Amino acid sequence: MNNATFVFDAHCDTLGCALPGEFQRDLRQWSDAGHLDLPRMRAGGINCQIFACFPGQTRLTSCPTSAALERLEVLYTLIERVPEQITLIRSASDLEKITTEGPIGAILGFEGGEALDGSISRLHTFYRLGLRNLGLAWDERNAACDGVGAGTSAGLTAFGRDIVITCNDLGIVLDLSHLNPAGVAEVLALSSQPVIASHSNARGLYDHHRNLSDNQIRMIAERGGVIGVTFVGMFMADNPAEATLDHVLDHIDYMVEVAGNDHVGLGSDYDGWTLPTDLDSGEKYPRITDGLLARGYPEETICKILGENFRRVFTQILP
Ligand SMILES: [Zn+2]
Repeated sequence: MNNATFVFDAHCDTLGCALPGEFQRDLRQWSDAGHLDLPRMRAGGINCQIFACFPGQTRLTSCPTSAALERLEVLYTLIERVPEQITLIRSASDLEKITTEGPIGAILGFEGGEALDGSISRLHTFYRLGLRNLGLAWDERNAACDGVGAGTSAGLTAFGRDIVITCNDLGIVLDLSHLNPAGVAEVLALSSQPVIASHSNARGLYDHHRNLSDNQIRMIAERGGVIGVTFVGMFMADNPAEATLDHVLDHIDYMVEVAGNDHVGLGSDYDGWTLPTDLDSGEKYPRITDGLLARGYPEETICKILGENFRRVFTQILP
């Protein structure tokens, strides 16, 4: 069923792997390095992808805005070179035009508010440049909030609250992955729009601080949001090398149980971390469909999980 099914993946760090002078992967070519490029997206049936700009750990505090712009340049250059293969999604109508045959839809995301440089003006500028998905935090503290890795209980700053309201006004989808529990609660209370967690798993199944509690999962679902189950090995097993596709399917089962069919999606984190070897490349994506079919999921539910749920939320929020 995968060829005709719309697939939306809510998180990858692939732009950082195509920077000139660093990894130099040409995303137009099938590569054996890393996890994702256009041919492998096509082979895996991925139709829409959030490309996150993560400044990288060393750039979080030194020039994160420049780091984001460099990644944005990678995406713009790719789209310019092969517009028949990939196109930028700026609006709900752009997203509605994405089909399983046409160009792949790229959504520009930020992983962490660092790149905003403490400025709402910067948020407006990045919106003009195409930003449509904003993860408030990576793992550490920034001017907006505290990441979950900081281990603190602080909520949003005044700047963080401004960001939430501005994103609601502009039509940028807020992303709770990496945010600490106090921040998650505050965004859920403050946002007038549904929010997503682009790449997070279930803490009830595996106790890692990056995973979401049952209560957080329920709150995101109650407000109409979607959680992208992620493939990251260390969020599913003590020895990440032992994580497999089955672990991912277990987290999907668990999320569906807690959140319901309409609030679960996928966010691979391709090119972000070590992933299970049976899922560690874009062309392996159909294995999820096969796994869900084998577990008895009806096709209608599989379509929701593979892409329709995320498409619904982005269509609702994007301008
Ligand atoms: Zn991440």
